Amino acid sequence: MSEYDFDLFVIGAGSGGVRASRVASAYGAKVAVAEEHRVGGTCVIRGCVPKKLLVYGSHFAEDLEDAKNYGWTIEGASFSWPALRDHVLNDVDRLNAAYTTTLNNHDVHIFHERATIIAPHRVRLASGQEVSAKFILIATGARPFVPEFPGSDLCITSNEMFHLDALPKRAVIAGGGYIANEFAGILNALGTRVTVVNRGNTILRGYDEQVRDRLLQIYMTKGIEFKFKAPFEKVEKREDGTLDVYLTGHDPIHADIVLFATGRVPNVEGLGLGHVGITPDDLGAIPVDDYSKTSCDSIYAVGDVTNRVQLTPVAIREGQAFADTVFGDKPSTVDYGCIPAAVFSQPPIASVGLTEGEARNRYGNIRVYSSDFRPMRNVFAHRAERGLYKMITEEPSGRILGLHMIGPDSPEILQAAAVAVKAGLTKQAFDDTVALHPSMAEELVLLK
Ligand code: NDP
Repeated sequence: MSEYDFDLFVIGAGSGGVRASRVASAYGAKVAVAEEHRVGGTCVIRGCVPKKLLVYGSHFAEDLEDAKNYGWTIEGASFSWPALRDHVLNDVDRLNAAYTTTLNNHDVHIFHERATIIAPHRVRLASGQEVSAKFILIATGARPFVPEFPGSDLCITSNEMFHLDALPKRAVIAGGGYIANEFAGILNALGTRVTVVNRGNTILRGYDEQVRDRLLQIYMTKGIEFKFKAPFEKVEKREDGTLDVYLTGHDPIHADIVLFATGRVPNVEGLGLGHVGITPDDLGAIPVDDYSKTSCDSIYAVGDVTNRVQLTPVAIREGQAFADTVFGDKPSTVDYGCIPAAVFSQPPIASVGLTEGEARNRYGNIRVYSSDFRPMRNVFAHRAERGLYKMITEEPSGRILGLHMIGPDSPEILQAAAVAVKAGLTKQAFDDTVALHPSMAEELVLLK
């Protein structure tokens, strides 16, 4: 008989926590997980998945317009936000149930309540029950960060975007990162007048400069307004419930919603870290070693709460590596090199490896190949919008250091190409591959 109630107690049933729970259980561990919200976590409940469905839903606006050139007459087409919203929320319910079933099928005990660590092997649940475990895994994720200023409580975050009663006529979006650009695309396509307000003078810092400039140019052509170097002074509510947004150095903006997308902060409050000597870093994240172990030997942490790379597939890898290491007798670490990433803007951006600037700084001798093209479907639909693919190589070897794309379906294309970049292939390997014609992806083997 074990001296503990469980071999593993996981706090948080999101992407990282669920993977770690079910893999540890498959290795024979007795596992429990505590989740105070809904099983599935940010990605499934209020992030990647419902967002992507909204991207699909909103894109029909353009597709229906383009359909005319393909001979279709669609009379009486109309859009219902409540219909899209409710279908998306139903799908979230389906996934929530699927994740719960997965845990049940793996004999993972679910406590639907908050857990606080009270000792290296002990947690206390909100109900007051105490549970012991040989290992504790913290997988509590992160939440949206909203800076404080007068009226900041009148603003919403991505969490609320999936539950709006009505589609806003005018929206102000604060931030220039992933969430800001994704929701700017969704709302603009659905007919909302969108103004993106950022503290800096660029969007998507960290992405390739030419690619993000292309998105900015396309978004401005689509009618999205941008205000750069525009700090928020205050937001005030009118009697009719609409909002006046005051920015330093810019005219006020009248809007129905103000969405803050200014980064996410790790969920460490009330976890009881002080009881076990774990001190969060300056950004509030839990420091861990290569095996995701905290400063307390029996406690590990994975996913956004560790703020290594805030992406779902990374949290899943970390959860898997943790379970392999601790319960599978296979010490494993996560390789953070060449992680592909995408912004589901309209058009989307996809990227893997170093940007041109990073490559130049790190390697000096590099070469840049590119293709600036108008996708066939855009030509036919009389859309001016151009795609841009860029490949950065180390010279003289020709090894690919980075690949950056903007254009329809670029995340779908990049995922396959990322295998080649990760494998260390050269530009020559792409040149040696015959083009698949006609496709957008063929531009990758025709780069000049
Ligand atoms: P991002 O980190 O992508 O962008 C944050 C933006 O807010 C930046 O433009 C930043 O400006 C600005 N900002 C940061 N702090 C402040 C502040 N105090 N006041 C004003 N502006 C500020 O964060 P998001 O919220 O868009 O997304 C959070 C994370 O979620 C992402 O980092 C990503 O990892 C993940 N995510 C991934 C998605 C995907 O993979 N497609 C989709 C959605 C989210 P500056 O550039 O000057 O720092």
